[in-house]
Amino acid sequence: MSKMVISDLPDSEFEGRRVFVRVDFNVPIRDGIISEDYRIRRAIPTIDYLVEKGAKVVLGSHLGRPKGRAIQDLSLRAVSSRISELLGKPVKFIGKVIGSEVKSEVDDLEEGEVMLLENLRFHIEETENESEFSKQLASLADIYVNDAFGTSHRKHASTYGMTSHFDLRLAGFLVNKELKFLTKLKENPEHPFIVIVGGAKIKDKISALKNLIEKADKVLIGGGVAYTFLKAKGVNVGSSLTEDEMIDWAKDALQNYEEKIYLPIDHVVAESIEKRKTLMVVDQEIPEEFKGFDIGPKTVGRYISQIQGNGLIFWNGPMGVFEVADFSAGTTHVARAVALATWRGATTVAGGGETISALRRSEVLDSEIVHISTGGGALLEFLGGEELPGISILNDKKE
Ligand code: ADP
Ligand code: MG
Repeated sequence: MSKMVISDLPDSEFEGRRVFVRVDFNVPIRDGIISEDYRIRRAIPTIDYLVEKGAKVVLGSHLGRPKGRAIQDLSLRAVSSRISELLGKPVKFIGKVIGSEVKSEVDDLEEGEVMLLENLRFHIEETENESEFSKQLASLADIYVNDAFGTSHRKHASTYGMTSHFDLRLAGFLVNKELKFLTKLKENPEHPFIVIVGGAKIKDKISALKNLIEKADKVLIGGGVAYTFLKAKGVNVGSSLTEDEMIDWAKDALQNYEEKIYLPIDHVVAESIEKRKTLMVVDQEIPEEFKGFDIGPKTVGRYISQIQGNGLIFWNGPMGVFEVADFSAGTTHVARAVALATWRGATTVAGGGETISALRRSEVLDSEIVHISTGGGALLEFLGGEELPGISILNDKKE
């Protein structure tokens, strides 16, 4: 069942109405400077749309983990200036979340004006989904919009509790886009469907991985995840990262899907991340004292030849410890191959916190991936088949 989107509502419904938009402005800020603003930029289409329709827009977000305290380093003030620049109009910010002052400021908004509330997590009631706090937040608006996919797996006041006070609960454009692409991955992928999985641990992504392996035509495995699979096959992985509790599952997966699972055939290894002098490339077997930190050049060649310009490609998890230049080649090559596949016509989807940083380090532009998911935990839970509370509360689309 698809969810109702802001554009499904007649324009007249927004005119002069107060609209609360749960956004995700959890961006890195240091000394008041925002180093990476893509999360803000991605919320602009929804805000712009509501402004154009004459709504009074109230934005709510969290930033970091202040755990109920008003920590000034985690204030959203810098974000309000940034949105204002991007929108080309002033954005009100009074440094509070709830209360009579906030309420009267919101009531005084003109049609098309925008206000940003202070960090929702300055109140412990936000993460505790406390009912009085939820009610107060809800009293600030007539219509509820969720445009924060990344927190939709949380039952917080702003993602869940407050929504019961609204009849109209709509998806913003960003959430709608996430649902469109992620539902495709989960339910009806185009073929060939190529899944590229890496990162640190299988355990973090097990249910998503199960579903994806079943649906995919090919699964290219790298990163720490690969060593558990190789160990399950009886290959000597030296002292590489492995998860012993996942070995049996990996054995089963290899048995059931042998023809579609691709594992590294060579590795960049070292005694430790620090002991870079010991770095070397080895085929298959890894010597006892060594750890695999990246896929090797033969594996890169084999993997990128599978990443072609058709069908659907999904990537989650770096191929190695890409944060260290010596171990970043595998990830960089895969990132660029995915970007190239987009240019050639494939539908490319990537997600995961470190995967997004890896795309940036590889100088792949946002426009070179069809969909970059902003969800970390929410992405994996959704692909694992779980219902996300912040999504399930949205109105269903009328057929
Ligand atoms: P994402 O955030 O994109 O979902 P993960 O959190 O699963 O990705 O994993 C990212 C981390 O995995 C990176 O910090 C990277 O350094 C680490 N990693 C990748 N390959 C290895 C490896 N071979 N050994 C140890 N850590 C690895
Ligand atoms: Mg991560």
